[in-house]
Amino acid sequence: YLPIIYIITPTNIRAEQKADLTRMSHTLKLVNNIHWIVVEDSENKSSMVSRLLERSGLNYTHLNVLTPPQFKMASKDPNWLKPRGVLQRNAGLDWLRNQKRFLAEQGVLYFADDDNTYSLDIFQEMRYTQKVSVWPVGLVGYLRYERPVVKNRKVVGWFTAWKPDRPFAMDMAGFAVNVQLVHKYPEAKFSNEVQRGYQESTFLTGLKLTLDDLEPRANMCTEVLVWHTRTEKSSMKNEDKLMKKYGKATN
Ligand code: UDP
Ligand code: MN
Repeated sequence: YLPIIYIITPTNIRAEQKADLTRMSHTLKLVNNIHWIVVEDSENKSSMVSRLLERSGLNYTHLNVLTPPQFKMASKDPNWLKPRGVLQRNAGLDWLRNQKRFLAEQGVLYFADDDNTYSLDIFQEMRYTQKVSVWPVGLVGYLRYERPVVKNRKVVGWFTAWKPDRPFAMDMAGFAVNVQLVHKYPEAKFSNEVQRGYQESTFLTGLKLTLDDLEPRANMCTEVLVWHTRTEKSSMKNEDKLMKKYGKATN
């Protein structure tokens, strides 16, 4: 049988949100036995996301938690200034840990941002994870890809230019963890208080892992099966012009 894959996706409101979530949901429709935990960064659940999830036909849980203003990026902030999706991923973790049925269930947890690009193969790679599986991530860290360095089938370091001395110097999209482990260490979570770039390391250190525990996938971390693509902000500078001409009717 297939272990279930729990996918936690933080998502924030923006013009491109529906496009990104549509693409992602259509990817996930092609994957068996998954449960999508979508956590809106908002005070209330939006009807757009509610409808999108309902129509998708996927197994899902819809949550929301607002990032307080002091942790929120201003639109002119450089994108690296503040961590994104921290409280949302934690809300997903809380939900998962409260699922008593998963105590006996085989499963794996993956943190998947809404704007990345996922090969269907990555879900096969993560499905049978003992503790933590790891793989390369494309288009990240000002590199074509980052990857765990593997020697004799073990992870021995990180092919990463930025802060390579982090305990687990990889992107959020580069690992998946067994849900039993998530349950065993209920304190493992993300934090708005840690140094820039340390979200992944903070969570994985909380699971009491060492490099030796990591299971290199994607052909010993030689294949890129997920990309940290980023959706370009669309300019709306012609909106006003047409609003004046036609009024508010846009549908
Ligand atoms: N996100 C969020 N709140 C925010 C900004 C982003 O929940 O204020 C979500 C976003 O939808 C995405 C994830 O957090 O799923 C990572 O954000 P983003 O893709 O903007 O980060 P980057 O790709 O620049 O690392
Ligand atoms: Mn992104």
